[in-house]
Amino acid sequence: MTKVLQDMTATKQRNFLAGDETLRLILEDRLDGPFLSYAKRELHLFGERCANEIDERAKHTDREGEPRLVRYDKYGEEVSSVWVNEGYRQTVQETYDTGIVGYVHKDIPDLGHRGNYTYSFAQGYLLSHAEPGFYCPVTLTMATAYLLDHYADEDVKNRFLPHVCSTGEVPLFEGATFLTERQGGSDVGANVVRAVSEDGHYRLHGEKYFASNAGMAGVAMVLARMDGAPEGTKGLTLFAVPWRRDDGSVNGLRIRRLKDKLGVRAVPSGEVEFDGALAYVVGDPAKGIHYMLEALNLSRICNSVASLGIMRRAFLESKEYASRRNAFGKRLTDYPMVKDTLGKMAAKLHVETAAVFDFIKLYEKVTDGEASQEEQVLNRLYIALLKKESAEQAIHFAHEAIEMHGGNGYIEDFVTPRLLRDAQVLTVWEGTANILGLELIRLVNKYAAHKLFLNAMRERLVMVPDSEMKQSLVVELERLGNDLIAFTAYDEALQTFEAKSLMKRMADMYESVVALEWSRKHGGRFTKLAEIFMEDTWSLRKQGEQMKTVEFFEEIM
Ligand SMILES: Cc1cc2nc3c(=O)[nH]c(=O)nc-3n(C[C@H](O)[C@H](O)[C@H](O)COP(=O)(O)OP(=O)(O)OC[C@H]3O[C@@H](n4cnc5c(N)ncnc54)[C@H](O)[C@@H]3O)c2cc1C
Repeated sequence: MTKVLQDMTATKQRNFLAGDETLRLILEDRLDGPFLSYAKRELHLFGERCANEIDERAKHTDREGEPRLVRYDKYGEEVSSVWVNEGYRQTVQETYDTGIVGYVHKDIPDLGHRGNYTYSFAQGYLLSHAEPGFYCPVTLTMATAYLLDHYADEDVKNRFLPHVCSTGEVPLFEGATFLTERQGGSDVGANVVRAVSEDGHYRLHGEKYFASNAGMAGVAMVLARMDGAPEGTKGLTLFAVPWRRDDGSVNGLRIRRLKDKLGVRAVPSGEVEFDGALAYVVGDPAKGIHYMLEALNLSRICNSVASLGIMRRAFLESKEYASRRNAFGKRLTDYPMVKDTLGKMAAKLHVETAAVFDFIKLYEKVTDGEASQEEQVLNRLYIALLKKESAEQAIHFAHEAIEMHGGNGYIEDFVTPRLLRDAQVLTVWEGTANILGLELIRLVNKYAAHKLFLNAMRERLVMVPDSEMKQSLVVELERLGNDLIAFTAYDEALQTFEAKSLMKRMADMYESVVALEWSRKHGGRFTKLAEIFMEDTWSLRKQGEQMKTVEFFEEIM
């Protein structure tokens, strides 16, 4: 019988780093000589591992090997541990050993200096092509390391940080961040978990309702309220809570159950009850929410990075399938409609990746303590804009990939259903679109973030040579500027009503500026991608005009 597809096992022996010109240029721009060589070598190895064994194991974890709660040991003692399959364990070990968390905080032995977030996010991006579910625990461990490194006293830092940053030399403690309670995730101020002072220590009592990495984490960063603390977010203190005591017994907590989830099955998300868990205060007890919001911003960037990973995997799978599948006697890629879908995906993927790594540069400045007040505001704004946009795009790309595969796209033999299920959580956790809309309102009303944004976009656009694309963008920027100024005068209800559509336009504007900058700097293929992106984003094409995605197809693919 004739083969309906050239090769059904399309992902075999691939390397997710291969052919990623956007990431290559980002790395060459950001990393110096020896670090660049090191990163390229290591990312090549990791990209290959992600495309092969990590991907195989992710499939197994998702389909039949998902984490399971082990509540009691054979003697009936409560152990609240989580069983994970052997392959998953290997993925955990191999991933942390690359220094994805550790080398942000400690020296890379080959180089004699620390790594940075750009390198760590490049690793997270490759990992999320295969295992975005497991990038959640990595994210939580990154957030835990950030909090301990920045705010814990020496005692608490020494106790936990070397384990959280382990690259194999000491036992690994994965991290976790527990905020959400039954009465509220977005509304963290409603938290009621208590921190009670006993014999010079704090002990936690109460329940956390969404606790990812429960049972796997060695230490969790938990928000709780000390007796007598004010209501609302101001009364929340940050605690480091070890999962086990020094003697190995469970530290006064239990997992009630693991959530039965739509996707990201690799991460065990539990409901955790604290019943006198020993907890260490981190930093100033009155500033818990400030610390956690900083960690949340880091997690939101990871969310964008995971979104990019899913987008690229969806694109790669779509491209590969379309180039192998025949229908009505032709390859799918011979059809203009298919070229149009793939061309738009290629353009959006490139621009989104470039934009996310663009603001990561600013984020590194902020975390190094070198950013001005205005840059800090812009940093928060870009994080909110791109978290929302990239998460929505991850879902859109996963949908497009299913569509491109036809019936096969809906079948679990292919990665496409998992991509959609895993993508769907990215708009929810780390702040829903509405909550990000409230962040825009706060930044505009309190810090005039809209003015900073408009100035930054204008300044960057001035540096771009004149072109039709630039002219259209200048007009759009003028329009957006007027709408943002009008927005500042609205009452609360109208502001909330308009916030999300403005965020979409701001994200489009930011990405367009980045697209034009790449076109100026790198030309060729990147100019073609910018043209497609601009035309699609701002609806510039009129019926019957040039089919850019078709004409540029060979070059941009
Ligand atoms: C798989 C998974 C794992 C998770 N892991 C963790 C974890 O490890 N740690 C943790 O702390 N949390 C975790 N969460 C919780 C997650 O962060 C929350 O679910 C999320 O923040 C939303 O909170 P909520 O579920 O209470 O929804 P709600 O806050 O009840 O929101 C419901 C809806 O109302 C909207 N809404 C809420 N307030 C407003 C408002 N003021 N204006 C307009 N709309 C509003 C929201 O946008 C949303 O659409 C996890 C969630 C999932 C799904």
